[in-house]
Amino acid sequence: MAKPLLEVSGLKKHFDIKGGVLGRTIGKVKAVNDISFTVMEGEILGIVGESGCGKSTTGKAILRLIEPTEGTVKFEDHDITKLSDEEMRKLRRDMQMIFQDPYASLNPRHTVEKIISEPLLVHGLKSDEKRKERVHELLEVVGLSSYHAYRYPHQFSGGQRQRIGIARALANNPKLIICDEPVSALDVSVQSQILNLMNELRDNFNLTYIFIAHDLSVVKHISDRVGVMYLGNLVELTDKEKLYEDPKHPYTQALLSAVPSLDPDIKKERIILEGDVPNPANPPKGCVFHTRCPKAMDICKIEKPVFAEVEDHHFVACHLYD
Ligand code: SF4
Repeated sequence: MAKPLLEVSGLKKHFDIKGGVLGRTIGKVKAVNDISFTVMEGEILGIVGESGCGKSTTGKAILRLIEPTEGTVKFEDHDITKLSDEEMRKLRRDMQMIFQDPYASLNPRHTVEKIISEPLLVHGLKSDEKRKERVHELLEVVGLSSYHAYRYPHQFSGGQRQRIGIARALANNPKLIICDEPVSALDVSVQSQILNLMNELRDNFNLTYIFIAHDLSVVKHISDRVGVMYLGNLVELTDKEKLYEDPKHPYTQALLSAVPSLDPDIKKERIILEGDVPNPANPPKGCVFHTRCPKAMDICKIEKPVFAEVEDHHFVACHLYD
């Protein structure tokens, strides 16, 4: 039976807002505000939400690319929030990230061989010959060829560049890969090729992914379970099938109502949310979604709903299920 690989508990990331002549802290942007979830070994956990909901910040805080404000992140037996820089550096070979814009994350002045070699060198593969061999092997694994090693990033298409980003992430045989909008900059036809490749790699190398995206169809395609974020909070988390067939949180219901159905017989009523997403520097009291929720009740303005298991493996933060 699969065991937990990553346990995130009470994770917060608040950014200071500076102001005044002296640049004092005058407020906080609560980008991630107390979220908890577990990722099982070999699983793909999708995280969806509109831009600015805190999903990318969550990914970066888990890897400590930005320091969490509070909470614990347990990876295997380590609470990574307590590790020294050196311990964290060693652990990073097991935890990698793939970014949205592969072009921005690949040094344009380096050949693909140098780009993919870098993490190998950092983690101690000193032999030039062995590194070269590994780079060529990785290029084949992601569907490119050995001769691509001598080219520069600008000589590739967007999909090929994302394959290079994936090869670099795979270089040191990681266990967990956090994928931050990895296909959103790509054409739809290329998107499915990359998603299929990622699925194959998961199976072949027993990888675990956290897959962050705003596109519900993309997340549905690849994930085993899906978490929905709104204004720095995780509001719903369950198996993919349950989430897409029986969404419980009013925000998830609204998001899914906007996804066109492939079945012409299924008529969906679109739920239009009123107003804008509130400012994360001044989130609403009680339920953060109450200012836009079509089902809001009096209690929602006062009390923050607990993120609780309302059915087997189905977690929701909403007073409707108290
Ligand atoms: Fe809507 Fe209230 Fe549920 Fe929040 S707690 S989602 S405001 S019904």
